[in-house]
Amino acid sequence: MTATLMKGKPLAERIRSEVADEVGRMGHIGLVTVLVGDDPASEVYIRLKHKAATEAGFDATDLRLPAATTEEELLAKLAELNESPEIDAILVQLPLPGQIDEAKVIRAVAPAKDVDGFHPLNAGELYLGRPAIVSATPRGVMALLAEHKVELDGARAVVIGRSAIVGKPVMHLLQQANATVTLCHSHTKDLQRQTLDADVIVAAVGVPALVSPDMVRERAVVVDVGMNRTDAGLVGDVDPGALEVASLMTPVPGGVGPMTIACLLENAVRCARYRRGELAYPG
Ligand code: NAD
Repeated sequence: MTATLMKGKPLAERIRSEVADEVGRMGHIGLVTVLVGDDPASEVYIRLKHKAATEAGFDATDLRLPAATTEEELLAKLAELNESPEIDAILVQLPLPGQIDEAKVIRAVAPAKDVDGFHPLNAGELYLGRPAIVSATPRGVMALLAEHKVELDGARAVVIGRSAIVGKPVMHLLQQANATVTLCHSHTKDLQRQTLDADVIVAAVGVPALVSPDMVRERAVVVDVGMNRTDAGLVGDVDPGALEVASLMTPVPGGVGPMTIACLLENAVRCARYRRGELAYPG
Protein backbone atom coordinates (compact mmCIF):
# COMPACT_ATOMS: atom_id res chain seq x y z
CA MET A 1 0.00 0.00 0.00
CA THR A 2 1.35 3.42 -0.92
CA ALA A 3 1.72 6.05 1.79
CA THR A 4 -0.69 8.95 2.03
CA LEU A 5 1.07 12.20 1.15
CA MET A 6 1.20 14.84 3.86
CA LYS A 7 0.92 17.80 1.52
CA GLY A 8 2.04 21.13 2.88
CA LYS A 9 0.29 23.40 0.44
CA PRO A 10 -3.36 23.09 1.55
CA LEU A 11 -2.49 23.46 5.23
CA ALA A 12 -0.10 26.32 4.49
CA GLU A 13 -2.84 28.10 2.55
CA ARG A 14 -5.23 27.73 5.45
CA ILE A 15 -2.67 29.12 7.89
CA ARG A 16 -1.88 32.00 5.56
CA SER A 17 -5.53 32.93 5.30
CA GLU A 18 -5.85 32.83 9.11
CA VAL A 19 -2.78 35.06 9.30
CA ALA A 20 -4.38 37.49 6.82
CA ASP A 21 -7.45 37.66 9.10
CA GLU A 22 -5.20 38.47 12.06
CA VAL A 23 -3.41 41.18 10.11
CA GLY A 24 -6.83 42.64 9.25
CA ARG A 25 -7.83 42.59 12.92
CA MET A 26 -4.62 44.27 14.05
CA GLY A 27 -4.54 46.76 11.20
CA HIS A 28 -0.79 46.78 10.75
CA ILE A 29 2.02 44.30 11.19
CA GLY A 30 5.47 45.48 10.22
CA LEU A 31 7.92 42.83 9.04
CA VAL A 32 11.41 43.71 7.92
CA THR A 33 13.81 41.34 6.21
CA VAL A 34 17.49 42.17 6.10
CA LEU A 35 19.60 40.74 3.30
CA VAL A 36 23.32 41.50 3.33
CA GLY A 37 24.99 40.92 -0.03
CA ASP A 38 23.53 39.17 -3.05
CA ASP A 39 23.68 35.41 -2.46
CA PRO A 40 21.33 34.05 -5.17
CA ALA A 41 19.72 31.36 -2.96
CA SER A 42 19.07 33.94 -0.22
CA GLU A 43 17.51 36.28 -2.78
CA VAL A 44 15.08 33.55 -3.80
CA TYR A 45 14.11 32.88 -0.15
CA ILE A 46 13.65 36.60 0.51
CA ARG A 47 11.48 36.98 -2.57
CA LEU A 48 9.24 34.07 -1.52
CA LYS A 49 8.90 35.42 2.02
CA HIS A 50 8.00 38.89 0.76
CA LYS A 51 5.44 37.60 -1.68
CA ALA A 52 3.72 35.63 1.09
CA ALA A 53 3.97 38.49 3.59
CA THR A 54 2.55 41.04 1.18
CA GLU A 55 -0.29 38.70 0.18
CA ALA A 56 -1.19 38.31 3.85
CA GLY A 57 -1.37 42.10 4.23
CA PHE A 58 1.85 42.74 6.17
CA ASP A 59 3.75 45.98 5.78
CA ALA A 60 6.87 44.24 4.57
CA THR A 61 10.16 46.07 4.17
CA ASP A 62 12.88 44.50 2.05
CA LEU A 63 16.09 45.97 3.42
CA ARG A 64 19.13 45.27 1.26
CA LEU A 65 22.63 46.06 2.48
CA PRO A 66 25.83 45.82 0.42
CA ALA A 67 28.06 42.74 0.74
CA ALA A 68 30.79 44.91 2.29
CA THR A 69 28.57 46.02 5.21
CA THR A 70 30.54 45.88 8.46
CA GLU A 71 29.35 44.14 11.60
CA GLU A 72 29.07 47.52 13.36
CA GLU A 73 26.87 48.91 10.58
CA LEU A 74 24.56 45.89 10.69
CA LEU A 75 24.33 45.98 14.49
CA ALA A 76 23.52 49.71 14.38
CA LYS A 77 20.76 49.05 11.84
CA LEU A 78 19.32 46.27 14.02
CA ALA A 79 19.36 48.53 17.09
CA GLU A 80 17.31 51.03 15.10
CA LEU A 81 14.82 48.36 13.96
CA ASN A 82 14.54 47.00 17.51
CA GLU A 83 13.42 50.46 18.66
CA SER A 84 11.13 51.23 15.73
CA PRO A 85 7.42 51.33 16.63
CA GLU A 86 6.61 50.46 13.01
CA ILE A 87 8.42 47.13 13.12
CA ASP A 88 6.98 44.05 14.82
CA ALA A 89 9.18 41.34 13.36
CA ILE A 90 12.79 41.24 12.16
CA LEU A 91 14.34 38.57 9.96
CA VAL A 92 18.05 38.58 9.14
CA GLN A 93 18.64 36.26 6.21
CA LEU A 94 21.50 33.83 6.81
CA PRO A 95 24.24 33.15 5.87
CA LEU A 96 25.94 36.50 6.41
CA PRO A 97 29.18 37.54 4.70
CA GLY A 98 32.38 36.32 6.39
CA GLN A 99 33.31 39.63 8.04
CA ILE A 100 30.16 39.50 10.19
CA ASP A 101 29.84 37.29 13.28
CA GLU A 102 26.49 35.54 12.82
CA ALA A 103 26.09 34.61 16.49
CA LYS A 104 26.52 38.24 17.48
CA VAL A 105 23.90 39.36 14.98
CA ILE A 106 21.42 36.70 16.11
CA ARG A 107 21.84 37.95 19.69
CA ALA A 108 21.35 41.56 18.58
CA VAL A 109 17.74 41.08 17.40
CA ALA A 110 15.22 41.95 20.14
CA PRO A 111 13.95 38.53 21.32
CA ALA A 112 10.28 39.50 21.03
CA LYS A 113 10.86 40.66 17.42
CA ASP A 114 12.96 37.60 16.53
CA VAL A 115 10.56 36.10 13.98
CA ASP A 116 12.96 33.23 13.17
CA GLY A 117 13.23 32.18 16.82
CA PHE A 118 17.03 31.95 16.57
CA HIS A 119 17.87 34.24 19.52
CA PRO A 120 19.39 32.27 22.45
CA LEU A 121 16.50 33.40 24.65
CA ASN A 122 13.95 31.86 22.29
CA ALA A 123 16.10 28.74 21.84
CA GLY A 124 16.41 28.55 25.64
CA GLU A 125 12.69 28.89 26.29
CA LEU A 126 12.11 26.01 23.90
CA TYR A 127 14.77 23.94 25.67
CA LEU A 128 13.03 24.65 28.97
CA GLY A 129 9.71 23.48 27.61
CA ARG A 130 7.93 26.82 27.46
CA PRO A 131 8.32 27.80 23.81
CA ALA A 132 7.92 31.49 22.90
CA ILE A 133 8.99 32.04 19.30
CA VAL A 134 10.02 28.74 17.69
CA SER A 135 11.70 28.61 14.29
CA ALA A 136 9.31 28.11 11.43
CA THR A 137 10.43 24.85 9.84
CA PRO A 138 10.16 22.77 13.06
CA ARG A 139 6.73 24.30 13.70
CA GLY A 140 5.75 23.36 10.16
CA VAL A 141 6.81 19.76 10.80
CA MET A 142 4.69 19.60 13.95
CA ALA A 143 1.70 21.23 12.25
CA LEU A 144 1.77 18.62 9.48
CA LEU A 145 1.92 15.80 12.04
CA ALA A 146 -0.99 17.32 13.96
CA GLU A 147 -3.03 17.86 10.80
CA HIS A 148 -2.70 14.15 10.01
CA LYS A 149 -3.50 13.21 13.61
CA VAL A 150 -0.24 11.35 14.09
CA GLU A 151 -0.17 9.96 17.62
CA LEU A 152 3.03 11.25 19.22
CA ASP A 153 2.32 10.43 22.85
CA GLY A 154 4.55 7.45 23.62
CA ALA A 155 5.67 7.15 19.98
CA ARG A 156 9.29 6.42 19.12
CA ALA A 157 10.67 9.25 17.00
CA VAL A 158 14.02 9.48 15.26
CA VAL A 159 15.26 12.88 14.13
CA ILE A 160 18.19 12.83 11.69
CA GLY A 161 20.19 16.08 11.83
CA ARG A 162 21.11 18.20 14.82
CA SER A 163 21.15 21.76 13.46
CA ALA A 164 19.95 24.60 15.68
CA ILE A 165 17.49 25.59 12.96
CA VAL A 166 15.76 22.26 12.33
CA GLY A 167 16.99 19.08 14.03
CA LYS A 168 17.33 20.27 17.62
CA PRO A 169 14.09 22.29 17.79
CA VAL A 170 12.18 19.38 16.20
CA MET A 171 13.68 17.10 18.85
CA HIS A 172 12.40 19.38 21.63
CA LEU A 173 8.93 19.76 20.13
CA LEU A 174 8.53 16.00 19.64
CA GLN A 175 9.73 15.37 23.16
CA GLN A 176 7.30 17.96 24.51
CA ALA A 177 4.55 16.11 22.63
CA ASN A 178 5.58 13.08 24.74
CA ALA A 179 7.41 11.12 22.06
CA THR A 180 10.58 9.22 22.95
CA VAL A 181 13.13 10.92 20.75
CA THR A 182 16.48 9.75 19.42
CA LEU A 183 18.59 12.41 17.75
CA CYS A 184 20.88 11.04 15.04
CA HIS A 185 23.63 12.90 13.19
CA SER A 186 26.74 12.50 11.07
CA HIS A 187 28.54 10.47 13.77
CA THR A 188 25.65 8.07 14.44
CA LYS A 189 26.74 4.47 13.97
CA ASP A 190 24.28 2.24 12.15
CA LEU A 191 21.57 4.78 11.37
CA GLN A 192 19.34 2.05 9.97
CA ARG A 193 19.20 0.34 13.34
CA GLN A 194 17.79 3.54 14.82
CA THR A 195 15.36 4.37 12.03
CA LEU A 196 13.93 0.84 11.81
CA ASP A 197 12.79 1.25 15.39
CA ALA A 198 10.96 4.53 14.71
CA ASP A 199 7.24 5.18 14.47
CA VAL A 200 8.10 8.67 13.21
CA ILE A 201 11.19 9.69 11.23
CA VAL A 202 12.12 13.32 10.61
CA ALA A 203 15.01 13.72 8.16
CA ALA A 204 16.78 17.10 8.15
CA VAL A 205 20.18 16.40 6.72
CA GLY A 206 20.77 17.75 3.23
CA VAL A 207 21.84 14.47 1.61
CA PRO A 208 19.64 13.20 -1.24
CA ALA A 209 18.05 9.79 -0.59
CA LEU A 210 19.98 9.28 2.66
CA VAL A 211 16.95 7.45 4.04
CA SER A 212 16.37 4.42 1.82
CA PRO A 213 13.17 2.34 1.85
CA ASP A 214 14.91 -0.44 3.82
CA MET A 215 15.53 2.03 6.66
CA VAL A 216 11.83 2.68 7.16
CA ARG A 217 9.70 0.49 9.34
CA GLU A 218 6.43 -0.80 7.86
CA ARG A 219 3.67 1.87 8.29
CA ALA A 220 6.00 4.47 9.85
CA VAL A 221 5.39 8.20 9.39
CA VAL A 222 8.13 10.02 7.47
CA VAL A 223 8.73 13.77 7.36
CA ASP A 224 11.33 14.86 4.84
CA VAL A 225 12.73 18.33 5.56
CA GLY A 226 15.60 18.01 3.09
CA MET A 227 15.75 20.35 0.13
CA ASN A 228 18.54 19.32 -2.20
CA ARG A 229 19.06 20.82 -5.62
CA THR A 230 20.22 18.08 -8.00
CA ASP A 231 20.32 17.63 -11.79
CA ALA A 232 17.01 15.82 -11.37
CA GLY A 233 15.48 18.89 -9.66
CA LEU A 234 14.62 19.50 -6.03
CA VAL A 235 14.77 16.29 -3.96
CA GLY A 236 14.52 15.47 -0.28
CA ASP A 237 16.61 13.36 2.09
CA VAL A 238 14.27 10.39 1.74
CA ASP A 239 14.23 8.04 -1.24
CA PRO A 240 10.71 8.28 -2.74
CA GLY A 241 10.70 4.45 -2.73
CA ALA A 242 9.92 4.77 0.99
CA LEU A 243 6.36 5.68 -0.05
CA GLU A 244 5.80 1.95 -0.51
CA VAL A 245 6.67 1.29 3.14
CA ALA A 246 5.47 4.32 5.11
CA SER A 247 1.88 5.07 6.08
CA LEU A 248 2.26 8.86 5.77
CA MET A 249 5.05 10.78 4.10
CA THR A 250 5.72 14.37 3.04
CA PRO A 251 6.47 15.05 -0.63
CA VAL A 252 9.46 17.13 -1.76
CA PRO A 253 8.73 19.68 -3.04
CA GLY A 254 5.34 20.61 -1.60
CA GLY A 255 5.67 19.17 1.91
CA VAL A 256 7.56 20.99 4.63
CA GLY A 257 8.68 23.84 2.31
CA PRO A 258 5.32 25.66 2.07
CA MET A 259 4.78 25.13 5.80
CA THR A 260 7.97 27.01 6.64
CA ILE A 261 6.74 30.24 5.07
CA ALA A 262 3.24 29.92 6.56
CA CYS A 263 4.67 29.33 10.05
CA LEU A 264 7.05 32.24 9.62
CA LEU A 265 4.06 34.52 8.99
CA GLU A 266 2.36 33.05 12.06
CA ASN A 267 5.47 33.89 14.05
CA ALA A 268 5.25 37.48 12.81
CA VAL A 269 1.69 37.67 14.14
CA ARG A 270 2.98 36.39 17.46
CA CYS A 271 5.65 39.11 17.51
CA ALA A 272 2.95 41.71 16.82
CA ARG A 273 0.87 40.38 19.70
CA TYR A 274 3.88 40.63 22.01
CA ARG A 275 4.47 44.25 21.00
CA ARG A 276 0.82 45.15 21.60
CA GLY A 277 0.78 43.44 24.97
CA GLU A 278 -1.84 40.87 23.85
CA LEU A 279 0.68 38.21 24.82
CA ALA A 280 3.34 38.51 27.49
CA TYR A 281 6.84 37.73 26.28
CA PRO A 282 8.56 35.48 28.84
CA GLY A 283 10.78 37.17 31.39
P1 NAD B 1 22.76 21.47 8.48
O1 NAD B 1 23.76 21.24 7.40
O2 NAD B 1 22.92 22.62 9.41
O3 NAD B 1 22.63 20.15 9.37
C1 NAD B 1 22.65 18.88 8.79
C2 NAD B 1 22.67 17.84 9.88
O4 NAD B 1 22.68 16.56 9.27
C3 NAD B 1 23.89 17.91 10.79
O5 NAD B 1 23.44 17.96 12.14
C4 NAD B 1 24.66 16.62 10.53
O6 NAD B 1 25.18 16.05 11.71
C5 NAD B 1 23.60 15.71 9.94
N1 NAD B 1 24.17 14.77 8.98
C6 NAD B 1 24.99 15.05 7.94
N2 NAD B 1 25.30 13.90 7.28
C7 NAD B 1 24.67 12.91 7.93
C8 NAD B 1 24.59 11.50 7.73
N3 NAD B 1 25.23 10.90 6.73
N4 NAD B 1 23.86 10.78 8.58
C9 NAD B 1 23.18 11.37 9.60
N5 NAD B 1 23.19 12.69 9.82
C10 NAD B 1 23.94 13.46 9.00
O7 NAD B 1 21.36 21.53 7.71
P2 NAD B 1 19.92 22.15 8.14
O8 NAD B 1 19.97 23.62 8.05
O9 NAD B 1 19.42 21.49 9.37
O10 NAD B 1 19.07 21.62 6.90
C11 NAD B 1 18.90 20.24 6.64
C12 NAD B 1 18.17 20.06 5.34
O11 NAD B 1 16.88 20.65 5.47
C13 NAD B 1 18.80 20.75 4.12
O12 NAD B 1 18.55 19.97 2.97
C14 NAD B 1 18.06 22.06 4.03
O13 NAD B 1 18.05 22.59 2.71
C15 NAD B 1 16.68 21.63 4.45
N6 NAD B 1 15.85 22.70 5.01
C16 NAD B 1 14.59 22.78 4.52
C17 NAD B 1 13.74 23.73 5.01
C18 NAD B 1 12.35 23.78 4.48
O14 NAD B 1 11.70 24.77 4.61
N7 NAD B 1 11.86 22.68 3.90
C19 NAD B 1 14.17 24.63 5.99
C20 NAD B 1 15.47 24.51 6.50
C21 NAD B 1 16.30 23.52 6.00
